Amino acid sequence: MRRRDFLRVAGMLPLIGGGLLGAAAGSPPADWAGLRRQLKGPLVLPGDSGYDRARRLFNPVYDRVRPGGVAYAATAADVAACVNFVRTARIPVTARSGGHSYAGWSTGTGLVIDVSRMNSISYSAGRATVGAGAKLVDVYDRLAAHGVSIPAGSCPTVGVGGLTLGGGIGVVSRKYGLTCDTLESLQIVTADGRVLTCDATHHAGLFWACRGGGGGNFGVVTSFTFRTHPIRDVSVFFLRWPWAKAAAAVKAWQSWAPNAPDELWSTLHLGRDRNGLYVQIGGLYLGGKGALDRLLAPLSAKLGANTSRYVAGSSYQHAMMVMAGCASLSVERCKQTGREAFAAKSHMAYRPMPDKAVNALVAGVAQGGTHSVLLDALGGAVGRVKPDATAFPHRAALFSVQYYADGSDRTWLRAIHATMRPHLGDHAYVNYIDPDLTDWQAQYYGPNAGRLAQVKSTYDPDRLFRLPQGV
Ligand SMILES: Cc1cc2nc3c(=O)[nH]c(=O)nc-3n(C[C@H](O)[C@H](O)[C@H](O)COP(=O)(O)OP(=O)(O)OC[C@H]3O[C@@H](n4cnc5c(N)ncnc54)[C@H](O)[C@@H]3O)c2cc1C
Repeated sequence: MRRRDFLRVAGMLPLIGGGLLGAAAGSPPADWAGLRRQLKGPLVLPGDSGYDRARRLFNPVYDRVRPGGVAYAATAADVAACVNFVRTARIPVTARSGGHSYAGWSTGTGLVIDVSRMNSISYSAGRATVGAGAKLVDVYDRLAAHGVSIPAGSCPTVGVGGLTLGGGIGVVSRKYGLTCDTLESLQIVTADGRVLTCDATHHAGLFWACRGGGGGNFGVVTSFTFRTHPIRDVSVFFLRWPWAKAAAAVKAWQSWAPNAPDELWSTLHLGRDRNGLYVQIGGLYLGGKGALDRLLAPLSAKLGANTSRYVAGSSYQHAMMVMAGCASLSVERCKQTGREAFAAKSHMAYRPMPDKAVNALVAGVAQGGTHSVLLDALGGAVGRVKPDATAFPHRAALFSVQYYADGSDRTWLRAIHATMRPHLGDHAYVNYIDPDLTDWQAQYYGPNAGRLAQVKSTYDPDRLFRLPQGV
């Protein structure tokens, strides 16, 4: 199964962080050649071969953005040199890890500090130390060689940097928590150019903010140390029903999925593609096929015969490749899977949807266009952490709701989001960053917004790190 069959994604017009192409008036001219001499990693400037590649994100909609330079930092000292450079020259700065920001906010017109070459992954005694630029497919692959893993997202090329800083929802989160819940410490370069190690006792406020407060706000993270869990054989499943069962499937799923055993994670997709409308429930179970069949039985009893049914045992590592849409690919080939233009919006659902809302959701998906809605189960270990224990506030959410459309047109997205808002409320996940939101502080952070603002003023009082929706 390819990723685009599992997760339909496609482009949104960005509010790219504003900025100046060169130094601000009154500041010394930017010494790009001097910066280049200081760095161990390459600095790619306009006119250099490789510039067009260096400025690309995952979503081609943002290819028109032309940074003043892209620094491929090789060390924390490189990152510090970049931060000191932009502060002195008063040039806008943007951190980039995997480049998957929905709004394109990992590029800009100033200096992009790209940490993708800081991608080492090591393991010792139950702890994994991961460079902030590592891609998820490499994290799963390298840790599996040690018989361990961390809970993280399903897209193979998402960067561990952006994912962890915003929270990190994945296919084993109901059992092991969000990615940020297993974080024990991190190394970060702050606006004053210091390289800090943060954990529960050192720079504890900054450490708290970096677990759900979102990327691009407090500094440039260079590495993370995570607590790992042992891996085991698992089972995966993908079940489809006729479209006529779509509303019944949503009603059955939303009361079943968030209350399932922690070992069972599932996602419900409603979509409209060139083959027509589809409804699918898929997921992963940390256990054998027989036990999974028994857990799926209540759904089958309510919804009747499947149009397609796949339930199979798998190694943990292969299951991550299946969930990444890379079932038949090598890790290297998986990393080369195509970029996709998409636009998206989302909700975090704190209550089950009433029948009226389910019917409206299904009717919205059936409207013209190529788009999908993804409901991802939460609860379990995610919900057992207090909402203020980390900056990620949505601990009581039952599931997330993502609306995706191919291309950059946001018309359908805005309509269906507005239709569902009275039923799902005003909660959003910062990793599904949405440039349309005006009350984004409340939606992303809820009651944690005030403490995040305090951390910001302590570590970046002059707001060197800026986003259109920055803390
Ligand atoms: C196809 C796809 C699938 C996804 N699947 C999941 C999923 O399963 N679970 C989930 O939770 N999310 C998922 N996401 C959302 C994803 O978590 C966010 O888009 C995340 O921010 C991407 O991180 P990145 O490093 O790839 O992106 P980037 O675009 O590089 O960064 C995102 C933000 O973080 C900042 N940032 C990046 N690196 C650093 C750093 N080292 N230090 C400080 N700030 C930094 C950037 O400036 C930007 O603001 C998915 C996104 C896509 C496009």
